Amino acid sequence: MHIDTLRQQFRDLGAKPCHEARLLRAWAQRLPLDGGPRPAEHFLPLAVRNALPSITPVLDGLATLKSEHPGEDGASRLLVELADGQTVESVLLPRGGLCVSTQLGCAVGCVFCMTGRDGLIRQLGSAEIVAQVVLARRMRAVKKVVFMGMGEPAHNLENVLEAIDLLGSEGAIGHKNLVFSTVGDPRVFDALPRQRIKPALALSLHTADAALREKLLPRAPRMTPEELVEAGEIYARATDYPIQYQWTLIDGVNDSPAEMEGIVRLLKGKFALMNLIPYNAIDGLDFRRPSWEKAAEHARFLHRAGILTKLRHSAGQEVDGGCGQLRARQITVVRR
Ligand code: SF4
Repeated sequence: MHIDTLRQQFRDLGAKPCHEARLLRAWAQRLPLDGGPRPAEHFLPLAVRNALPSITPVLDGLATLKSEHPGEDGASRLLVELADGQTVESVLLPRGGLCVSTQLGCAVGCVFCMTGRDGLIRQLGSAEIVAQVVLARRMRAVKKVVFMGMGEPAHNLENVLEAIDLLGSEGAIGHKNLVFSTVGDPRVFDALPRQRIKPALALSLHTADAALREKLLPRAPRMTPEELVEAGEIYARATDYPIQYQWTLIDGVNDSPAEMEGIVRLLKGKFALMNLIPYNAIDGLDFRRPSWEKAAEHARFLHRAGILTKLRHSAGQEVDGGCGQLRARQITVVRR
């Protein structure tokens, strides 16, 4: 389901652009579609008003809560069922954040990721992406949306941009609070600057070594770390928001002193924030999480070298975190 399909359905009922905007605003902000107690301020053509009882269940059915898995870190993983019965994950983050999925599965195939193991199953429509926000708003306020759940947003670019456009307008989320996360794709650097709503950008770097990056992210577009940072810097300067670089710290793989020096070489003087995220070990994958002390030492080294760095927990790690693990576990349980 796409937002444009919804717009067309409203138009077919006689809605004008102002009615469309009102309906989409009400949906995205989880307000009554008919204007609730103030219908006079929410005038809708009669045919549209009469159709609302059949539209509402369709919108509600785009994303429903299958299960919730709260963690002690304030994050809560949601297993979300789509209208066709497939499931994706969203994560409620502390301070009004929400992490949403953009694809069912993922074709990038990062060797350390559960989602990447099954490849791409299908794209999420733009309305299914927004519906995850609407569902979360039923549970609590959402002021920030990060596109870091299952999937590679660059591989579903049109739908993700359509969702960002709605969330950043009728959805009332500040543009800097919409965070497009990607392994890096030339199409993203071409498309984002041309959008009406320009999200903040997070780039998954993971290593400063181009050859190792090809091994860790086997089907990511072939951009070297230097090319990624160069393109990111242009976007950061154009939007005036720093690029958030993501680095999943994997013990013995990308946490050597040489890698930390590589970060300094790449990011010194750049408009950037480095997020170091110790890996969340996954059953069946042979990668380990470094100790917190070792990770903290890396963060201190980067700070001293003038790189703005945050050492972060992977949200929801004590509730089987790591993208795709809830869904994978659910499928394992169902298959047993
Ligand atoms: Fe895809 Fe992200 Fe997993 Fe890589 S880490 S396979 S980009 S979902």
